[in-house]
Amino acid sequence: MSDVSRRTFLKGIIAGAVIVGFDPLQRSWVTTASAATEAFPTFDGVLYTDATSLSEAADDFGHIIHRQPTAVLKPGSVNDIIKIVKFARRHGLKIAGRGQGHSTYGQPQVEAGVVIDMNSLNTIHAITPTYADVDAGVIWSTLTVATLAQGLTPPTHTDYIELSVGGTLSVGGIGGTSSQYGVQADNVLEVQVVTGEGRLEHCSPTHKRKLFNAVLAGLGQCGIIVRAKVKLIPAHTQARTFLLYYTDLTIFTADQQILVDDERFNYVEGQAVPNGSGGWMFMLEAATFYSSPATPDNAALLAGLSYNAGSEQISDSSYFDFLNRLAPTIAFLKAIGVWGFPHPWTDTFIPAHSVNSYISSVLANLTLDDTGQGPVLLYAFKTANMQRPLFRLPDTEHAFLFSILRTAPPIQAVVDAMVASNRALYEQNRDLGGTRYAIGAIPFSQADWEAHFGPVWKEFKKAKRAYDPDNVLTPGQGIF
Ligand SMILES: Cc1cc2nc3c(=O)[nH]c(=O)nc-3n(C[C@H](O)[C@H](O)[C@H](O)COP(=O)(O)OP(=O)(O)OC[C@H]3O[C@@H](n4cnc5c(N)ncnc54)[C@H](O)[C@@H]3O)c2cc1C
Repeated sequence: MSDVSRRTFLKGIIAGAVIVGFDPLQRSWVTTASAATEAFPTFDGVLYTDATSLSEAADDFGHIIHRQPTAVLKPGSVNDIIKIVKFARRHGLKIAGRGQGHSTYGQPQVEAGVVIDMNSLNTIHAITPTYADVDAGVIWSTLTVATLAQGLTPPTHTDYIELSVGGTLSVGGIGGTSSQYGVQADNVLEVQVVTGEGRLEHCSPTHKRKLFNAVLAGLGQCGIIVRAKVKLIPAHTQARTFLLYYTDLTIFTADQQILVDDERFNYVEGQAVPNGSGGWMFMLEAATFYSSPATPDNAALLAGLSYNAGSEQISDSSYFDFLNRLAPTIAFLKAIGVWGFPHPWTDTFIPAHSVNSYISSVLANLTLDDTGQGPVLLYAFKTANMQRPLFRLPDTEHAFLFSILRTAPPIQAVVDAMVASNRALYEQNRDLGGTRYAIGAIPFSQADWEAHFGPVWKEFKKAKRAYDPDNVLTPGQGIF
């Protein structure tokens, strides 16, 4: 990318042609030489309008939705974010923060508005024994390398750790330790936010609590998260991973619930995997973290579990390599070009009472053509430690994450069919008391969102009115 746009803007201002707004039909900034108009803000960072920057921001990991912004700001400071939000508000432009753009259905995109690429705000300000104070553009892998150097770790990681702090705090951030620690958004002591009015606010559970509740797992609706204090705990150095295979879904889900209840492992996840004869079997993935010279007691860890005899695979790695375990697969997918294919993902939360019947019926009709060989995640968690009001879960003690992480060939009809299937699966689960995780590719109307937020919808709407009264922020979610 170049800084052509900034030079263009500066030139525009020097020449007396001040940018006053945007014409969505012409996809161009509107300028006037009128002395009565205000000057376009100058930035510590750079505002880009070149074609490459715009088309990158008009895409995401899903490669399904494409909404072209008119500018991309790489902020050099929080002040830049304040300035662009105020400018956008005055001129009727929409704004969205963008972390790594790993959403799958246009969530970080803005048609004819401004995308704030948070990557340029990526300072780790402090690591203390109990928290890290970080900019929202910091990537979790970078943060974890830095905290591990001090024997500390964030309690919860997503499976893929090349995601931004601001991005996952905005959606939730679930992983195999979430039963014990909650999602990443549960592990935040304080957040700094630029609201839709362009005000910088600090909020925490005890200060401006309503804003705190509205931005964590708040899908970018009430503010751009610019900085956060994320919890840290003492880290172990090693991980032992156990892969246990099951033929029977009900035994698999029962064992997972035993493990998340007794917490004998630090981490519990699982997948439906092809059984080699056109159907599905199940893989329970559990890990225990330890530091030499201590070693895990395999027999105690596996006691009472009913996996297929002799199917267990046990391996050791460093704790960091465990967290970073997807890296080799992703490097391979990038090398063969599949990483750039469309990803019509569906991510849902299933109430425990329905998991066996619902999953059996879905898997009975799910083929490898339907998944595009992408993984099918299925794992239990306790809902008690997930306390963010906007992270919507089934109203049950246990729930299951069910994700079909589809890869589609770049053929529109195939993508459309997968997205339609996502919607149908969502509706079946919703009717059983299930919810969705807002990172996937499920078409959703405003009425769907209202139903999704259910008992917290009123509060959410109030917060939106209070903190983003002109509805400037994050239109890609389609909520307001
Ligand atoms: C390979 C892979 C594996 C994944 N594994 C997991 C997993 O194990 N668990 C899990 O929970 N998720 C997982 N995800 C999903 C991931 O958490 C979400 O897609 C997340 O949004 C990605 O973070 P990001 O930085 O790319 O955010 P983006 O996609 O850039 O943004 C997500 C949303 O948040 C908004 N946003 C971004 N930054 C900010 C900010 N600073 N302030 C306010 N709003 C902001 C955006 O506008 C958008 O609406 C995975 C994704 C991929 C691609």
